[in-house]
Amino acid sequence: MMQVISTKSAASTKECPTVGKLIILTGPSGVGKGTLMRSLLQRHPQLQYSISVTTRSPRQGEIDGKDYYFISRREFEQLVAAGELLEWAEFAGNYYGTPRKAVINQVHSGKWIVLEIELKGARQIRASYPNALSIFILPPSLSELEKRIRSRAQDSQEAIARRLHRAQEEISAADEFDLQIVNDDFETALNSIEAAIFG
Ligand code: 5GP
Repeated sequence: MMQVISTKSAASTKECPTVGKLIILTGPSGVGKGTLMRSLLQRHPQLQYSISVTTRSPRQGEIDGKDYYFISRREFEQLVAAGELLEWAEFAGNYYGTPRKAVINQVHSGKWIVLEIELKGARQIRASYPNALSIFILPPSLSELEKRIRSRAQDSQEAIARRLHRAQEEISAADEFDLQIVNDDFETALNSIEAAIFG
């Protein structure tokens, strides 16, 4: 059984967390990792979500400070320059990043933090914190993923095309992560994630 590994013995950096746990949930856009994460948080209040910053515009219903911190490109670049992001990446024409302080402080105080991020960011976290638990969510098939991405009607045709292209690249990297879980049946996928986290 996969164990959650404390970040205690992670590479020795000054800010290396000593108590809590970092859990990375990654996988292509549209695979359902956001929905899986929200259910996970509802069921397990001891888990915390790291709210990312992004330069993407809010989708309908998204709330600033809850779903993301929506910021300008200039603000984002300033955060990068000031070293305030634990990881960041450009994805489908926008920037996304994880605020460093919030995560580090929470992990230091014993919290279990879930990062729901794309491939490049997940690789950065794994490089800095090799003992983080990393879970890659796979779609049942590429055609099913395409259907899910297209059904998000708020995204432009161009954004959809970029996301589809990127999804194929991401899926081919699934083996880099500790665990691969297919999101075919939602409940089964959720149970597998819970088993990985809580053993
Ligand atoms: P969306 O625009 O659909 O909300 O997110 C696009 C992609 O960016 C998703 O794969 C999502 O997991 C990822 N993402 C969200 N926040 C972050 C972050 O802070 N860092 C990175 N690297 N990716 C993120």
